[in-house]
Amino acid sequence: MPEFSDVAVPVPLDMVFTYRVPAGANPVVGGRVLVPFRQKRMMGIVVELHDRAPSVATKNIVSALDAAPVLDEQLLRLGRWIADYYLAPLGEVFRTMLPLSAEFKRSIGYRLTEEGQMALHLAGMSGSSRRSQRSPEEQAGEFRVLDYLAGREVDDNSLVPEPTLRSATGVSKSVLGGMVRKKWIVREDVSASREAARMTKIAVLKFAEGKLNDNQRMLIDALAASGGKVPVETLQSLTVPRTTLGTLVRRGLIEIVVEPAEFTVSRTKPRQSPFEFDFNAAQQAALARLCDGVAARKFAGMLLHGVTGSGKTAVYLAAMRAVLEAGRSAILLVPEIGLTPAVAADLHQIFGDEVAILHSALSDRERAEQWHRIKRGEARMVVGTRSAVFAPVSDLALIIVDEEHDASYKQEETPRYHARDVAVMRAKMANAVVVLGSATPSLESYFNAKKSKYGLVELPDRVEQRPLPEVEIVDMRQEFQETGQEQVISRKLAAEIKQRLDRKEQVMVLLNRRGYSPVVLCRTCGKKLECRNCAIALTHHKREHKMVCHYCGYMAPVPKACVHCGSEYVYFLGTGSEKLEELLHGMFPQARIARLDRDTVRSHEDFERTLNALSEGELDLLVGTQMIAKGHDIHGVTLVGVVGADVALGLPDFRAAERTFQLLTQVAGRAGRGESLGKVILQTYFQDHYAVQYAARHDFIGFYEKELRFRSWMHYPPYSALANVLVRSDKLDEALAWSGKLGKWFESTRHEGVRVLGPAAAPITRLKRDYRYHFVLKSPSREKLNTTLRAMLAYAAQQRIPRTQVIVDVDALWLM
Ligand SMILES: [Zn+2]
Ligand SMILES: [Zn+2]
Repeated sequence: MPEFSDVAVPVPLDMVFTYRVPAGANPVVGGRVLVPFRQKRMMGIVVELHDRAPSVATKNIVSALDAAPVLDEQLLRLGRWIADYYLAPLGEVFRTMLPLSAEFKRSIGYRLTEEGQMALHLAGMSGSSRRSQRSPEEQAGEFRVLDYLAGREVDDNSLVPEPTLRSATGVSKSVLGGMVRKKWIVREDVSASREAARMTKIAVLKFAEGKLNDNQRMLIDALAASGGKVPVETLQSLTVPRTTLGTLVRRGLIEIVVEPAEFTVSRTKPRQSPFEFDFNAAQQAALARLCDGVAARKFAGMLLHGVTGSGKTAVYLAAMRAVLEAGRSAILLVPEIGLTPAVAADLHQIFGDEVAILHSALSDRERAEQWHRIKRGEARMVVGTRSAVFAPVSDLALIIVDEEHDASYKQEETPRYHARDVAVMRAKMANAVVVLGSATPSLESYFNAKKSKYGLVELPDRVEQRPLPEVEIVDMRQEFQETGQEQVISRKLAAEIKQRLDRKEQVMVLLNRRGYSPVVLCRTCGKKLECRNCAIALTHHKREHKMVCHYCGYMAPVPKACVHCGSEYVYFLGTGSEKLEELLHGMFPQARIARLDRDTVRSHEDFERTLNALSEGELDLLVGTQMIAKGHDIHGVTLVGVVGADVALGLPDFRAAERTFQLLTQVAGRAGRGESLGKVILQTYFQDHYAVQYAARHDFIGFYEKELRFRSWMHYPPYSALANVLVRSDKLDEALAWSGKLGKWFESTRHEGVRVLGPAAAPITRLKRDYRYHFVLKSPSREKLNTTLRAMLAYAAQQRIPRTQVIVDVDALWLM
């Protein structure tokens, strides 16, 4: 065994750490090890084993947790690529790739020192008259801790776990910290892998004879019926007293053994009658392209551009089934909101037990179970949100990214990876096919298809030749002039809704802003009511009777007077989805109305329930935010009203037009998916904007060509690589000083081929208590951009700017 091991530890530092391998430990490259790091134990990944002695002293590995790699060679390479491309610490990347935190138990313990015993002794003698800056309560707490530890120590020299100590003495963490600094007590991290949780108690039948009462007989019979060996947990679900098992164990009829838990694998259900796909010619051609690509066993990227309602999902599933039948593996990535129980049911019907579904509602333990099933090769079809791109499948043949333009694929914390781009890289490494599907592809993907980097597969028509809905634009400035007041629902939209309701058809109305009123303004001093932690206006939520910050969750009471000047003239301005629902109730009292937004939807079940009600015809009208725009197939909806989906056009963000075009197209796509023709009423204050105009004409190509010209002029992606560098601190002075330093450095170093804009206050100047300044870097050369960013991080480290306060967001989706 080599003497040293380089380990990637999940800390915000761009390096790996060398540890000595103690005798008996057998770490493997790609396996997990427990290592001491500063005062803690952490779980890291072994990246190299070697005999090169480092120049500094090394600590020993505590233990090696895996006999075989948890990250195979390909995933290790993928992790290194992510760390490099997104400038993220390698250990943090690996932590994101492995959903195994449930197998690691964090545990801190304390022990009394000789100094501590002395202090306790002195206190007992003198009545403690020593000078102290601590409050009497703190001192009392400290002596309770000393007392407790001294009492425990008589017969037991082991550490007292932190939760035990704190609940016994009632002291805070900071008191314990102070005692550690005075060396009265020692704090040790004794975290370990959760072996115990992976073991399970099994009851084994030894003898089935003897005199037995009814309960005992029932238990023995149950055990015999299941082959004489069953987890104790299962027996406990029988209606016999718990003591019965104990009695039988004492009599030697049953033995209890502890064995490694087989992760709960559901019994193989026979697949139901083969799922039949009924494909039109375009779908068949698309499927053939995908399958040919897979059969070639070479990397290929494909952009599947299909209009809303063209049957993309069926093509994905059929291609995955072909992969499964060939004995290989596939991954389907879906946006957060797309993974409903109905979708899961379909997947189970098509793939039986060979599918693993990874969604955000899983507990850490369930996530780990699914991971092991995939790793063992029991589930070769993986469906999940963003992080499913790291699923440990072998012989990967196909990765599909559904709704590839969706922003939920970008992780907005370290590592700030984009799952679509990681999927492309993983497919390259595996010689697999990657399919990016959408009705509204991102500019980047469309550009790549145009340059023939990806093959373009098109589904130009809706299934069964259903036409795309007619879109009518209502100019809200004109509506204001003609009616003399600001309208939420135009006369045109109101009339169309009434007509649909009279015909017993269904309507969706989109307003992409939740709450009741988004702004509270004082007419006397002109100030808004802002969040205490963010430079963001608080939104009035009427039903909860609260003012809420949509960025940090801060809540405040609803003001009766201005908090700035005391004036009573406070006005609640604007309309959110809650108010829109109320307005519609007022206009159409007979209609059955429901609302879908983050306030009414707490879980996938809520979401599913409302959509089911709509689908079953139990609702006439559905109001909501962009949640209602995504991928639902409800046949009764013949009218979609859009009330202010163009809010984003007013934001200082170069992607505003693209986002608006995508949202308008997606929501319009909800209309007319059944027998009856669909119609869309698009209310806007920006009626001349090209995003609105092209969306109304369903002219994708027109929009992309125009938007690409704009991006090209402005040197924005896809013509430039872009990174947002955010400097933040809860102290304004620090944020200013650090961003100033970096600004001077950028100026003096002048990296050729890289444009640096800033430092400037970020559009949201304060967020979650942090003051924020940022730089935007653009370069036609990704290599030059990354070299500059790397040098900047090195300089920041040298200037002692904490790594966590300088955020580098490569390919940033938001510059806010
Ligand atoms: Zn005021
Ligand atoms: Zn806030």
